[in-house]
Amino acid sequence: MRLSEYFLPTLKENPKEAQIASHLYMLRAGMIRQSSAGIYSWLPLGFKVLKKIEQIVREEMDRAGCQELLMPTIQPAELWQESNRYDDYGKEMLRITDRHDREMLYGPTNEEMITDIVRSSIKSYKNLPINLYHQQWKFRDEVRPRFGIMRGREFLMKDAYSFDIDAAGAKLSYNKMFVAYLRTFARMGLRAIPMQADAGPIGGDMSHEFLVLADTGESEVFCHKDILDFDIPGDDVDYRSDLQPIVDKWTSLYAATDEKADEAQHKELGDNLVTARGIEVGHIFYFGDKYSKAMGASVAGPDGKDITLEMGSYGIGVSRLVGAIIEASHDDDGIIWPEAVAPFKVGIINLRASDDASDAACEDAYAKLQNAGVEVLYDDRDERGGAKFANMDLIGLPWQMVIGPRGLKDGVIEVKNRASGEKEELSIDAALTKLIG
Ligand code: ATP
Ligand code: MG
Repeated sequence: MRLSEYFLPTLKENPKEAQIASHLYMLRAGMIRQSSAGIYSWLPLGFKVLKKIEQIVREEMDRAGCQELLMPTIQPAELWQESNRYDDYGKEMLRITDRHDREMLYGPTNEEMITDIVRSSIKSYKNLPINLYHQQWKFRDEVRPRFGIMRGREFLMKDAYSFDIDAAGAKLSYNKMFVAYLRTFARMGLRAIPMQADAGPIGGDMSHEFLVLADTGESEVFCHKDILDFDIPGDDVDYRSDLQPIVDKWTSLYAATDEKADEAQHKELGDNLVTARGIEVGHIFYFGDKYSKAMGASVAGPDGKDITLEMGSYGIGVSRLVGAIIEASHDDDGIIWPEAVAPFKVGIINLRASDDASDAACEDAYAKLQNAGVEVLYDDRDERGGAKFANMDLIGLPWQMVIGPRGLKDGVIEVKNRASGEKEELSIDAALTKLIG
């Protein structure tokens, strides 16, 4: 992509409404634009990152044996009346009446809808277990939407739902999601710590929130410092094998949000206690037959008797993750994208647009990177070098290739690593080998 043709409405000034780095930089880097409170348009640069995150979530869900589908955003009120949540959900639910005076709503979550799909299509225990997910926009009329897309009213969520015939099976499904979540967030360059969460009426330890440590997080969190160094399961993890040891290891040390904090533990841990703030990026939850019972979702068991399904639900804040990644990875100059989610891997800076040698070298590098399948943003504008550097640092691409007449005279260009700030003078060929390799 040529920057001269790219829709990247960056801002030079700091917008007043931004209180945290991610919101500030997402606005300044032209990633999002607010439409109304807590509702945003995703501009090309922001949308590219969102899609990368969505794809990593998809790959890890699929690897864990889940199947993707897509449910609508608009739901009929009847389903929520069946589960008795229609009134309970209160003002957070956006309620809509259609032209036939039917009550509808913009889905804040999909337990009812997926239960309806499964109860009408799956009749035998032989077709279970199953875990179905989608990545769909949700609407929750939050009292205080804030921090940009971090706490939006309209936001993109991945929500998966597992169906099993007994609690033991549900635990296996839960463990798969636990492991998949560890891997998903790690692939985005994040360390998300599973913390015991309120499991509601069911009790037990079958609910975990995954939190990324960041000073601007909304929750206060506590954990044993050793959790920060635990190994993430590799891509050879076998989801058909017993995952309990991995879950046991990750839950063996103290980790809690303020709601579950335990003062006695804090005293005991002493220097081993980390007190920090955290951003909730995921939540996994086992709730047994809460919805299946209310909505009559059952299958015929081996002996022909009806079995009420055991369910779990597993959410990831896909759009919130864009902000969480920036909170975890930025400096005073702007965003520092981890390569896995970067909108482009390389930014080419032409220091003297319309100088023949610079133009030719840039065009050549641009073409070769693109041909090699590397995503590249070429700053071909007629602007001062200083402005180009500042802009490239702001949008945070992992690598910068700086090409200008002075270096070219000696046959070199500069390659800068955005994260380390390290600069290297290389021939164009050496630079291309490094960036393509
Ligand atoms: P929170 O405590 O932050 O309100 P929640 O418990 O309501 O979250 P869930 O219903 O578990 O959230 O939703 C799954 C995930 O969706 C959360 O872990 C979070 O990452 C994300 N999420 C929830 N609400 C919002 C929101 N208003 N804006 C952006 N992401 C959200
Ligand atoms: Mg909430």
